[in-house]
Amino acid sequence: MIFDFKMIDSFYKQLDSRISEIRKKLNHPLTLSEKILLSHIYHQNQTKSFSRGIDYVDFMPDRVAMQDATAQMAILQFMMAGKETTAVPTSVHCDHLILAHIGAEADLRTAGITNKEVYEFLSSVCNKYDIGYWKPGAGIIHQIVLENYAFPGGMMIGTDSHTPNAGGLGMIAIGVGGADAVDVLAGMGWELKFPRLIGIKLTGKLSGWSSAKDIILKISGLLTVKGGTGNIIEYFGEGAESLSCTGKATICNMGAETGATCSIFAFDNSMTEYLKATGRKDVAELAMKNSNHLAADREVYADPGKYYDQYIEINLSELEPYINGPYTPDLATPISRMKEEAVKNNWPLDVEVGLIGSCTNSSYEDISRAASVVKDALSQKLVARSEFTINPGSEQIRSITERDGFLEIFRKIGGEVFANACGPCIGQWARKDADNKKVNTIIHSFNRNFSKRTDGNPNTYTFVASPEIVTAIVLSGKLTFNPITDTLINSEGKEVRLAEPEGLNLPPDGFGNVDSGYQKPVRDQKEEKIIIAPGSDRLQLLIPFKEWDGHDFLKLPLLIKAKGKCTTDHISMAGFWLKYRGHLENISENYMIGAVNYFNDQTNSILNQLTGSYGTVPRTARAYRDSGTGSAVVGEENFGEGSSREHAAMEPRFLGVKVVLVKSFARIHETNLKKQGVLTLTFMNKDDYNKIKEDDKIDFIGLGKFEAGSQVTIALNHSDGTKEEFQANHSYNQSQIEWFKAGSALNIIRKSKK
Ligand code: SF4
Repeated sequence: MIFDFKMIDSFYKQLDSRISEIRKKLNHPLTLSEKILLSHIYHQNQTKSFSRGIDYVDFMPDRVAMQDATAQMAILQFMMAGKETTAVPTSVHCDHLILAHIGAEADLRTAGITNKEVYEFLSSVCNKYDIGYWKPGAGIIHQIVLENYAFPGGMMIGTDSHTPNAGGLGMIAIGVGGADAVDVLAGMGWELKFPRLIGIKLTGKLSGWSSAKDIILKISGLLTVKGGTGNIIEYFGEGAESLSCTGKATICNMGAETGATCSIFAFDNSMTEYLKATGRKDVAELAMKNSNHLAADREVYADPGKYYDQYIEINLSELEPYINGPYTPDLATPISRMKEEAVKNNWPLDVEVGLIGSCTNSSYEDISRAASVVKDALSQKLVARSEFTINPGSEQIRSITERDGFLEIFRKIGGEVFANACGPCIGQWARKDADNKKVNTIIHSFNRNFSKRTDGNPNTYTFVASPEIVTAIVLSGKLTFNPITDTLINSEGKEVRLAEPEGLNLPPDGFGNVDSGYQKPVRDQKEEKIIIAPGSDRLQLLIPFKEWDGHDFLKLPLLIKAKGKCTTDHISMAGFWLKYRGHLENISENYMIGAVNYFNDQTNSILNQLTGSYGTVPRTARAYRDSGTGSAVVGEENFGEGSSREHAAMEPRFLGVKVVLVKSFARIHETNLKKQGVLTLTFMNKDDYNKIKEDDKIDFIGLGKFEAGSQVTIALNHSDGTKEEFQANHSYNQSQIEWFKAGSALNIIRKSKK
């Protein structure tokens, strides 16, 4: 079955004329990213030559994918838009909440109990709004998208950072926060700063122990975790064409570790083969007909330095395997230098566990190559010296790698197959004999190896490598083992060398017919009830925020004057609180608890002007809200930087914060606050921050004349009876002013439905 074929067909039907229009307007050779981005402009008539890294542009992606942790609040918000279905095809994937403990079957059963209410809610809501629901155990979001939804030249967003995986099938696929997803689900334009472009030409061909993973491990080292920020990485060259489609997906997936907006490969034969193998022959044919639009123009490839903002060349014939880490994915060490580096840095050399799989490295090619290493080891009477675990990316992959005997080969050396889910990659790992302080080393083929991410232990040195290198290291038990040059001693005391891995890009016997774990939405959407368990502390329906009453905000007590850095983590902490991400009231109990109070240098201890005593930020905010005044928050520079977290903007609104006044905003947070109906202002004169006193009551005057470019007068009513006034700026455009007046952006959409 091909999902959403009508939409894909209609996209390709319009592609030629759209690209012709773009060519007429721009009149210069186009990169692949420009072709895709510009053919997805929200208002097609506004297409022009945008300044990369400067202009903000509204896009209309073709689809949205959401994982179970982030989908909860995004869907709860979408429900307030009053729509019958999502504006674009959408899918939800139950992959993040499954704890890897005993093994696939038992762990899935446990997840079904622990997360029952979340799964029931997501399943019912998917039925109601015509959203594809992938049950727990179906697989990891990005693998499912690659196998079923991605198509060359398309554009999608996903509420997960590794959404760019679909770039392996020639799609611009961008990881976003829930608020962005709501925009697209509700049919609004989705805003993105027009990305800069990094061109990477791959020459030569991989061989031996080197794999696609090593390309991105090397690039992570070159670009670092920040070097890709604001950029799309576009790959091309004969080396790119020599890679399998799933190898390309691995590179695009882990490209998120450079901070890149996304990564992409041009359409080629590997994509045709993959589409056909996964039952999408018709999509492959449409892509082939449009292939001239699914790659950059010839002039771009002939002179890449002229068309990309940054240009890199990598010769795959010379590429050796890499091991990245510990604690960061951009600390890239070629395997030949690992001994020296590990000893020099005092990294623990004994590897306790090797983990393969995840969304980025569980393709048929990955699993078959890793299995070939084990098969060879078994034939040479070698045993595993580290624990070994496998996380298949999807039921599709699990069933064919089981059918073709690879998982059984892994079991022969003690390999443990976990559920088709994120598991250890997102810290959902009940590690055996866990000791939260023990200094130890593990190695995996996932993306991220930040401190505590996998097992919660800050003393776990975590390294990243390809599945075949992880497997070789499991057989040696040593971080410093280099299968290219080193030998191992087998159970008979003989010195043996591992053969180079061998694998197949695609299963020779096809993907077969498996129960993929997909739940098709039921037809009678209006009848479908949303299931939220009574008294649930994880899920709560949202109530639309009230519209602005048309009056200036007067005598708002200061809630907190935050001192120094105030990121979205300070505003809405993660960790423990994530379990409440579907319950606004409960998660609001973390509002600003990490922010430092300017007046006492403490966190979560602020003056309650109603009582004269000190209390927590959330409780004090509630008190002001319930007394009918609401409150105002003051902050410093780049307020709300960090990951785009819609809770950081919803919580203040829920708690009655009417205004956030700061020296400067991180743009995404500012927009998120605007969408929720919180008034965002910046000091015209930043020194006015110093005038604000702990027990001030603040007037915000001039809202009746609120228009683009206007100013708001701030009057500080000090407790000694004195008053000070100054001006504040805002960055609202006309439609954002309407969001404020309506009480939220979603209120506008809901009203337009009536
Ligand atoms: S497997 Fe890891 S990287 Fe992939 S979606 Fe899950 S948590 Fe994210």
